[in-house]
Amino acid sequence: MSNLKNPVKQINPTYLKDFKCIGGSCEDSCCIGWDVDIDRITFRQYFRTKDSSMRSMFQSYIYKNEYCYSTEVDYGKVRMEASKRCPFLDENCYCKIFSNMGEEYLSNVCSSFPRVTNAIDDYYETSLYLSCPEAARLVLLNPEGICFEENNQPLNKHVLGSIVDTRLAEYSDSPVKFFHLIRKKCISIIQNRNYPLTKRLKALGNFLEILDEKSDFDLASMYNYLNNFDTDNFSDLPEASSSLPLLVSLFQEWTNKLNTFSSIENAQFINYTKLVREAFTLDSGEDIKVKSALYEDSLQRYFEPFLEEYEYIFENDLVNIMFKNVFPFSMTHRMFDGYLMLIIHFLWVRFYMVAFFSASKEASASDAVKLIQVLAKTLDHHNTYMDDLFYELKDCEYDNMEFIKVLI
Ligand code: SF4
Repeated sequence: MSNLKNPVKQINPTYLKDFKCIGGSCEDSCCIGWDVDIDRITFRQYFRTKDSSMRSMFQSYIYKNEYCYSTEVDYGKVRMEASKRCPFLDENCYCKIFSNMGEEYLSNVCSSFPRVTNAIDDYYETSLYLSCPEAARLVLLNPEGICFEENNQPLNKHVLGSIVDTRLAEYSDSPVKFFHLIRKKCISIIQNRNYPLTKRLKALGNFLEILDEKSDFDLASMYNYLNNFDTDNFSDLPEASSSLPLLVSLFQEWTNKLNTFSSIENAQFINYTKLVREAFTLDSGEDIKVKSALYEDSLQRYFEPFLEEYEYIFENDLVNIMFKNVFPFSMTHRMFDGYLMLIIHFLWVRFYMVAFFSASKEASASDAVKLIQVLAKTLDHHNTYMDDLFYELKDCEYDNMEFIKVLI
């Protein structure tokens, strides 16, 4: 962790400075339902405190983590109550450590969440996890879209996600060395509101597929293509019709595999999944064409009109993921892999939203934001599930635009 007093170069979304935790007014505290990690410095502070009542709580509820992967993150853990609630929350859901001892006694994870910081070359980049409801509202409900700004200020307590130095010799023959230009073009494609979002997603996939092909062959030709790619104009993209039966059968399988009702504890996610399976009769023996007709009906009746007014919610979600996850190198050095993961996320959000709108017979922006937040809290923080889907699609050799374009 860098010295917190020194100014450092930062690039952040402009929304970051407007984020403020709403504490006890939060409808879904981050201290409920998750592991709470304690870094080594904070862990030691807890056991040295002179406040005897707090020390006795620490002795009861803080323990050393034998599976620690980083002493700056999870040296210790909080023993959660049977209800999965953090024992340090008071009856108004305020943190007792914060109220009784001050912010400097919060662990790195507690004080940084929902912020996530990456170190890219000489810059720190901080954005927000949408698993926090207040962050989700701030990021998604901005019709102007996400903008970025540079500053030179001290960095607050943070936990580093990714560390990348694109100037290293190991990247001299890799597209990673062009990361900044590649990401800039990718975000410009997704923010180009002259085209519907699905078309922007297809353009992004085509763009990255071509970059991968060219980089396998000749990095100079890849750079030439990258540099000349016009993110303002991709109208020559071939049209492709989607296959709803394929999409619905995929989700029939994916929601089955998640084993929601036994392995997931988030009650809202379980409710959404029940709605999804009921809305499209996924548990019945009906023909897949009947199930897809139900999906199509809700898509046309509720989702598409909603999209006309609120497409920016989805755009903001995608741009936030791209920035937060070092896109398109989020998974591997193959750019299409980052795209595949982005598409898996998009498909989940859209599928669940179409089902939810079908069940509630109306579409609202607040419901859309809530759903994205719940999916982020459950899926993006799940240890293995999204990675499993990703590798499964790759094993089936579905990691190409021929396949993806019929799902979008
Ligand atoms: S989820 Fe967000 S708003 Fe709620 S308590 Fe946590 S940081 Fe604060």
